[in-house]
Amino acid sequence: MNKRAFLEGFFTASTVAFGGHFMWQRINQQSPLLAKSPVAIDYTGPTAAGMENSQSFQFTSIQLESVQPVQGIPIPAPVLTPGRDSDIPFEVAELDDAQVENYLRKIRNFDAIFASDIYLDARYESLLLKTTQHMSRVEKYIGHGNFNLMSFDEMLQHGRDFSEIGKFEADELNFLEEVFFANPHRYGFFGKKISAEITDFIPRTEVAKISNTGHFLLKGQSENLYTQIKKDVGDEVILTSGVRSIVKQMHLFLAKAIQANGNLSRASRSLAPPGHSYHGIGDFDIGKTGYGVKNFTADFSDTAEYKKIARLGYVDIRYPTDNLFGVRFEPWHIKIA
Ligand SMILES: [Zn+2]
Repeated sequence: MNKRAFLEGFFTASTVAFGGHFMWQRINQQSPLLAKSPVAIDYTGPTAAGMENSQSFQFTSIQLESVQPVQGIPIPAPVLTPGRDSDIPFEVAELDDAQVENYLRKIRNFDAIFASDIYLDARYESLLLKTTQHMSRVEKYIGHGNFNLMSFDEMLQHGRDFSEIGKFEADELNFLEEVFFANPHRYGFFGKKISAEITDFIPRTEVAKISNTGHFLLKGQSENLYTQIKKDVGDEVILTSGVRSIVKQMHLFLAKAIQANGNLSRASRSLAPPGHSYHGIGDFDIGKTGYGVKNFTADFSDTAEYKKIARLGYVDIRYPTDNLFGVRFEPWHIKIA
């Protein structure tokens, strides 16, 4: 399979995609796969009421497509025409206070919708849905635990071997490659690329299954750190997500993109795009037993368990408040050095 160059027109600035916004919602309502999208709030554009009436809604023209972390602060450069990365003008001089403010407002209000958010082009709507559902069939077939480790090649093989899953078609494979190889700086995610190839995989011999969790940790540093935290803080601490393959991260990201009505900026403020997740190199998520979905909210930082962990001195989180990755505050996500 050839690595594909980033294709022109894969993304759409919100100005153009807005017409498709309601199409996304329509798809959402039809699919049991999808969670309901939170209420739209626009902090940068006209009033939130404008979102109700697309005819009268005017977007601002500034895009944050080519922001790069430089000197500690991402630099938004206005880019008005889609194109290849090499064509994107990049001027450090373009940084101003308002742009920094805009960046911080976005990650602090990660689930809001901003006028400058970047959407997947509306032409990819049905492919996004079809491919995500196809991957859901794979996960259902092999189980959540195994899916955490599944490689891209294994997924394709399973598609060919099992009629319950079905073969992955060329349009789906092209779509998955485009998502993987597209530069997420275009939609406001600034984390590093961890895996260069979509076929990169996690060797089974390098992971340890963590009992009663359905998750795996890389042997060595990750497993030792988790064991030490549990020893120092107590059995209330649980592993909520461990090492994740590119396939697993891809499926999470695509589902997030569907929930966000194709808004890739919003999706990536709370989930790293495939190939960019530190879960691929040993980071893991922890929570408190019985705390449920609140383990994945800022509320986790109010728990006694989190406060104890913060005092241990040897634990770091990957995404602190106002980080430079373009990602929300994630007190549950433990960083491996
Ligand atoms: Zn995480």
